[in-house]
Amino acid sequence: MLKPFDKPIYTTRPVLPDINKVNLRLIEVWESQWLTNMGKQHEYLENELKKVLKVKSLSLFNNGTIALMVACKSLEISGEVITTPFTFAATPHALNWAGLEPKFCDIDEQTLNINPQKIEELITVNTKAILGVHVFGIPCAVKEIDDIAKKYDLKVIYDAAHAFETELEGIGIGNFGDITMFSMHSTKLMHTIEGGILTYKDQELGRKINQLKNFGIDTNSQEQEYDLIGLNGKLNEVQAVIGQEVLKIREIERQKRSKILNLYNERLSKIEGITMVSRGDTSQESFQYFPIRIRDSRVTRNILHNRLQDYNIFTRKYFYPLCSNFNCYKNIDTANPFNLPVANRISEEILCLPYYGGLNDNDINKICDIIENIME
Ligand SMILES: *Cc1c(COP(=O)(O)O)cnc(C)c1O
Repeated sequence: MLKPFDKPIYTTRPVLPDINKVNLRLIEVWESQWLTNMGKQHEYLENELKKVLKVKSLSLFNNGTIALMVACKSLEISGEVITTPFTFAATPHALNWAGLEPKFCDIDEQTLNINPQKIEELITVNTKAILGVHVFGIPCAVKEIDDIAKKYDLKVIYDAAHAFETELEGIGIGNFGDITMFSMHSTKLMHTIEGGILTYKDQELGRKINQLKNFGIDTNSQEQEYDLIGLNGKLNEVQAVIGQEVLKIREIERQKRSKILNLYNERLSKIEGITMVSRGDTSQESFQYFPIRIRDSRVTRNILHNRLQDYNIFTRKYFYPLCSNFNCYKNIDTANPFNLPVANRISEEILCLPYYGGLNDNDINKICDIIENIME
């Protein structure tokens, strides 16, 4: 048996700016005596993010889940929303919290995203929107989804929690659909410890989004008026400066993950039983996760996951269990595994490997040696 790692190797580690730099920024916030409610730091981060994501308009939030709930609310829809079961719990949960009913659609074997060919058969008179997830930063079939949405007059929302800086032919992924949500949780490459972003094109919609995240207060009117039932979705100034500092070092992290991606690809694609996940036709990667599939092998995904722990390597079964198999969703009509064969199968095959800049070539080679050894 190969030697285990001395210290545990997790799937991800937060991108941490130099604490002394963060301290200086905190002093700045303290001196301003403005801690939250869309202050200067918040505005600065918004403008920086617009450039990085290549979008015209965006709004910041205290987390991605609240942002997604506000996105749903702002569209003023009620009824059913077609979505993918192969995602984090926050996706269908946000729909429910916004009073909408998720309808699970099977996924595409290649992109692991909602299968556009399977959407139309789920559309009823009550269908109001499609919520796609660019899972692992792999883009959804945005063109096909757009065509379906136009044909049936549906709204389109994207969960781009894994797709920060993903681009399609040079276009930022946040430019597709009516609204796109990005998460800035600590596990995401770009983060504000906790945080979220909504991007959109419609300025009227943007005003509504900003009102909804601030208790429904219309800041443009003279009197404080409450036209909408909002909530508190604000990102504070301390998190805004941390976001600015993370933004400054993200390019270095991206380069490190790019190297890891190449090394993993080179090593793992040669191992029998491992199927690489195609990264889609992106012109720029998000470098958020490194998933592989384990299939047609004596060693199953669960065996590999467990055996890696003996070597102090802790991988994640993203996304197992499938949202449609959660106790809180398994009884809805579209959750039947019979209707979601691809999603159920992929969920048994998928494994996310350690993926963060702190891992050097030796670490990655060692992880690959161990995987190779287990798979034999
Ligand atoms: C991280 C994540 C979210 C939102 O997470 P928050 O922690 O609320 O920012 C939503 N969807 C997916 C797929 C995610 O991975």
